Amino acid sequence: MEEKQQRYNPAEIEPRWQQRWDADPNLYAAEPAGSGKPKYYVLEMLPYPSGKLHMGHVRNYSIGDALARFMWMRGYNVLHPMGWDSFGLPAENAALKNNTPPREWTLSNIAEMRKQMKRMGLSYDWEREVTTCLPDYYKWNQWFFLRMFEKDLAYKKSSKLNWCPQCATVLANEQVIDGRCWRHEDQIVELREMDQWFFRITRYADQLLEGLDSMPGWPEKVRTMQRNWIGRSDGTLVDFAVEGHDCPITVFTTRVDTIFGATSVQVAPEHAAAKTFAAEDAELAKKIEELLAQQQAARETGDIGNIEKHGYPTGRFAVNPYNGERVPIWIGNYILADYGTGAIMSVPAHDERDFEFATKYDLPIRRVLAPNVDMAEQPELPYTAEDDAVLIDSGEFTGEAALEAQQKMAKHAETHGFGKATVTWRLKDWGVSRQRYWGTPIPVVYCEKDGIVAVPDDQLPVLLPDNIEITQQGGSPLGKVAEFVHTTCPKCGGPARRETDTMDTFVDSSWYFYRYTDAKNDGMPFDSATTNYWFPIDQYIGGVEHAILHLIYSRYWTKVMRDLGLIDNDEPATRLFTQGMVIKNGAKMSKSKGNVVSPDDMIAQYGADATRMYALFAAPPDRDLEWQEEGVAGISRFLSRVYRLTTKYAPGIAAIEDTAGNQALTPAGLKLLRKLHQTIAKISQNFSGRWTFNTCIAAVMELVNAIVDAEPAMDSGEVSTATQKEVFTALVLLLAPFAPFLSAELWEVLGHSGVVFRHAWPEADEELAKEDELEIPVQINGKLANVVKVPAGSSEDVIKETALADEKVAARIAGKTVVKIIYVPNKLLNIVVK
Ligand SMILES: [Zn+2]
Ligand SMILES: [Zn+2]
Repeated sequence: MEEKQQRYNPAEIEPRWQQRWDADPNLYAAEPAGSGKPKYYVLEMLPYPSGKLHMGHVRNYSIGDALARFMWMRGYNVLHPMGWDSFGLPAENAALKNNTPPREWTLSNIAEMRKQMKRMGLSYDWEREVTTCLPDYYKWNQWFFLRMFEKDLAYKKSSKLNWCPQCATVLANEQVIDGRCWRHEDQIVELREMDQWFFRITRYADQLLEGLDSMPGWPEKVRTMQRNWIGRSDGTLVDFAVEGHDCPITVFTTRVDTIFGATSVQVAPEHAAAKTFAAEDAELAKKIEELLAQQQAARETGDIGNIEKHGYPTGRFAVNPYNGERVPIWIGNYILADYGTGAIMSVPAHDERDFEFATKYDLPIRRVLAPNVDMAEQPELPYTAEDDAVLIDSGEFTGEAALEAQQKMAKHAETHGFGKATVTWRLKDWGVSRQRYWGTPIPVVYCEKDGIVAVPDDQLPVLLPDNIEITQQGGSPLGKVAEFVHTTCPKCGGPARRETDTMDTFVDSSWYFYRYTDAKNDGMPFDSATTNYWFPIDQYIGGVEHAILHLIYSRYWTKVMRDLGLIDNDEPATRLFTQGMVIKNGAKMSKSKGNVVSPDDMIAQYGADATRMYALFAAPPDRDLEWQEEGVAGISRFLSRVYRLTTKYAPGIAAIEDTAGNQALTPAGLKLLRKLHQTIAKISQNFSGRWTFNTCIAAVMELVNAIVDAEPAMDSGEVSTATQKEVFTALVLLLAPFAPFLSAELWEVLGHSGVVFRHAWPEADEELAKEDELEIPVQINGKLANVVKVPAGSSEDVIKETALADEKVAARIAGKTVVKIIYVPNKLLNIVVK
């Protein structure tokens, strides 16, 4: 007989299988809606094609791939696509640096990363690949923009915007983290007044907030971050008339119940009233400038909330409409023009911040709330209670409970025409214009006669011109391309100029996962029936850093598409999983720290299976993972062992018919099968529950140890070939989600036909999985004496006898009287002695 090569060689096995898989485009293809199988849409967030996969990608994709393969084996119709979030600034930076056009740089990176993904053996349906920088995709960004424009969900306005000098573009609020650019941690964002397009995400603020309550499949951490970002606050708008001026100052307050205690009105340096006063008073104008400069400096440190508070009295007065009282108007550096109305009433007695300010500037402090009306002893100020407080010295509202007073006083304001109850949001509209080249052109033109004119649908896509000079200064690069800028007005046929800003790349990722369901549709973004079959996504997997950016934008986009009648679902994904980071020497991998581990190197040395499996084994998937090469080597040795054992017994296994069924089992055979079925039960449970793949893989390792222990029995024939066949077949199936190359190889080695990861997942046999021995702790007067082993299913009498006969137990009770014996079935035996 020919000696079979027994050495595990992933460098030979993996490329061979990759070639076979590549030759079969249907291998990972999702089936049509009518397949009769339940559907399962598993998705990892699409990468930016920077050039190479990093270990974070490897981890993210290994999780999704294990799940996709498991669900196939469970009989689901699985959709598992991949694409490229391929517009954005790095392509322009690379263009500047390497003198390569952004398109060329991006597409060659995509080709390289796709190659890496295939080398990893990831089970993507490449027929559905979505590349957001190509016209067949961004055409639909433009189409959606036009639909939003029609519904007044896209509009243009001038406002103060976040400007990153390094990006040379404006940023959305969501892209500013602690006052710094999300791409440039060291870059403090500037504010610039600019004309820009916005998406009216605030129209959906309440739905975005409420939806979070019915998304149990999303991590609480992400939902809390979104709640805080959306930031609903319920309050009242109250108009304070300004003496000597026509225009009142409208304040926003969440505590209108304290308004009788207002001793000043404070407005932001940029408030319209401040501007009016400044125009009348040069001295005041100077002070306002100072306060504004302080505010901007605080914004730049990223912590406007902790600004050292300064204010300046304007000498003007406002009138409290509830009691007709005159209160001074101040300008405060801590009042933000873009929060609420940019004006507040200051109630020092019942607000921490107002108390601090009033104490500093010696403003009157007036108590209008107390724990109850009659109390002699007043609480220390500021007294900010809401639930148990009642109003005092508050005119007709005296004696009311604070919470009820808020309602009544808001109504009072409305009845008398000087205010109303209102809700304000922290969430602002999404600024989507970018003064950059590599993005989706905004499909509008400017006509002298007709103003802003939408490009008609039949003229889409507005193509991004190819030949362009990128300088990263002096405005939008598209503005310098005459052929692009100069066009004709679709309305009047006269000369017009195109919009030269492009869209934020977060537009691309807001709906890409819908396009996967129908990626080649050229008449619509997608077919609604097809999308409704697949949506919502059953399991979305990605980094928590997207909690406020992509994961809010895509929820907004989903609701807009629903209201356009394109889809039925309210939310994009039923379950969201956020994996931990991959770190090395305790820090996030980065070039500057020199601690980057390249997936290519790992794969070259240990193979894709070992690299992927290590990424799943080294830590629970939701925790950070400290990369240790010895760990990868360990996994590689484990896979070698699997390979050696399987190839050793395969010839005998392949030679027999399917498993023997109700064969008589020897004790050694039974022991091995018990371990097998315990392992199957454990892994099956874990996939549907906690997703601690590390413990799944540890369980497979234990099974392999049991096989090694059983080698003599297998060699002697004590473990039958039929049992061997059952064990090795199941072992390969259990490994298929984690080590697809080796599983495919060993599946054939065992003589099985068909594709291993389309074979049914093994079922755990509960009877076989039961332990045949029970371990019962025996206590004497509540203290552990020993643990005894009894055959499973033994009667209470047998267990008592065994315990009393145990040497250690017998020694401890010698000379004493057994008063009673308490048995807790299968758990514990307690002997009470005197
Ligand atoms: Zn930047
Ligand atoms: Zn016109």
